[in-house]
Amino acid sequence: VAHELRNPLMVMRNALYYLDRIVSQGNAIVSADILRRYLHIIDGEIDRQTKIINDLLFFSRNRPRQLTDVDLNAIISETLMRVTMPESVEVHRDLDASLPTIRADADHLQQVFVNLITNAVQAMPEGGVLSVRTRKDGADVVIWVADTGAGIPEEAMPNLFQPFFTTKEKGIGLGLSVTRSLVEGHRGTINVESHVGQGTTFTVRLPVELVG
Ligand code: ADP
Repeated sequence: VAHELRNPLMVMRNALYYLDRIVSQGNAIVSADILRRYLHIIDGEIDRQTKIINDLLFFSRNRPRQLTDVDLNAIISETLMRVTMPESVEVHRDLDASLPTIRADADHLQQVFVNLITNAVQAMPEGGVLSVRTRKDGADVVIWVADTGAGIPEEAMPNLFQPFFTTKEKGIGLGLSVTRSLVEGHRGTINVESHVGQGTTFTVRLPVELVG
């Protein structure tokens, strides 16, 4: 974990070093595109580190739930804006306008969707379609986060929600474990369906009224 926290700092320092060189050379030829590329690298690394720190904080359960009336569609839209989206990923959103607010902890649910959406994007390095859908179903609301990415091999399925299980070079494997415990902390469920080479769908079901 310490490595995963330190690596983004190294990348940011390198990007700052190049930016500093450009500024001190008074290099007028450098295009805005090049500057933007370095700023984008720094931005991406800050995202990565923020997610790791948030996962660690949620993993160590340092904050109890704070319940309010939560508009899930708004949380999902905000999350889609917060997660850095490559141009090669097309986002389809199908958010039920008549979705009721639910009793929930907004920060906890935001972390759930940051994790699911980040994983979906990372599963599509060559690009693809990210679909997010919400519906009311009886006393629950259901949210689907689907990608057309790499898919999950059958043998990885039993470990998916285990802490520190990761297949990524730059991963710490806390995302799904934290996600499941936050969902279950809302008396909800999370399920996954995946086909290698075709994509993955995570389905989160949360009660509208949180009892207990
Ligand atoms: P991390 O992202 O740090 O690896 P997670 O707990 O979020 O940790 O995910 C654990 C593993 O589950 C990932 O390394 C990846 O192998 C797999 N995974 C999660 N979401 C997806 C997805 N949408 N598509 C393919 N694999 C996934």
